[in-house]
Amino acid sequence: MLEIHGIDVFYGDLQALWGVSLNVQQAEIVSLVGPNGAGKSTLMKTVSGLLRPATGSIIFGGIQLDNVPAYEIVEMGICMVPEGGRLFSSMSVLENLELGAFNIEARKERFEALERVYEIFPVIKTRKNQMAGTLSGGEQQMLAIGRALMSQPKLLLLDEVSLGLAPLMVQSIFQVIRMINDSKQISILLVEQNVRMALELGGRGYIIETGRIVGHDEAQRLLESQKVKKAYLGLGEIQGET
Ligand code: ATP
Repeated sequence: MLEIHGIDVFYGDLQALWGVSLNVQQAEIVSLVGPNGAGKSTLMKTVSGLLRPATGSIIFGGIQLDNVPAYEIVEMGICMVPEGGRLFSSMSVLENLELGAFNIEARKERFEALERVYEIFPVIKTRKNQMAGTLSGGEQQMLAIGRALMSQPKLLLLDEVSLGLAPLMVQSIFQVIRMINDSKQISILLVEQNVRMALELGGRGYIIETGRIVGHDEAQRLLESQKVKKAYLGLGEIQGET
């Protein structure tokens, strides 16, 4: 459903992505892992239409996104939860959720969508009249994901949604990601520092380093690969490898 073909992306003179190709199939989970500054967020922003590739192309549902404005990309079914969630902190939880359903199609089904979000995140329902800025870090991330679900996405882009959260909250977030993917047939492209948990979700994974894709495979095979174990899971030395 999403096909990225050989994109180069620049910030002014600085090239951040080099010939990146990646695809996400219907209802698939794809993890993008790599060190800080590798270009993961850049790729997410480019798929969302916030940055444009200088070369290469991005195709979603058979339509080339090159000149499609970011708000139309959301209407087509791609929604990003950016790093840090970016909520409107002085608006209520409910108002934040309603803002997620701004496009015409999503507005029609916003009541049903709201019920689904409350089902997935019961805690959000109990906080619906509270200012978003007063939620805990984990609750804010859940609200950010809930707001994205209100737009009725076909493809959800999750950028470091577990960053800075306590371990139990990280587990809850990963359970939710699995639930969203299982029950709603939504495809997920996930950027994560938490490489093990991301790959344990299953699906496929891509490794990006200094703006280039350096490997991709089934998530399970990546978990077992020596390169991933050494570079991302800190396991090389434990197993006596060099
Ligand atoms: P992190 O895990 O630290 O968020 P990342 O893999 O998401 O890293 P990006 O944020 O995509 O990496 O950054 C890729 C490269 O582009 C880095 O070298 C970064 O310094 C550079 N970069 C990112 N944003 C900008 C910007 N607005 N202007 C100039 N350079 C940028």
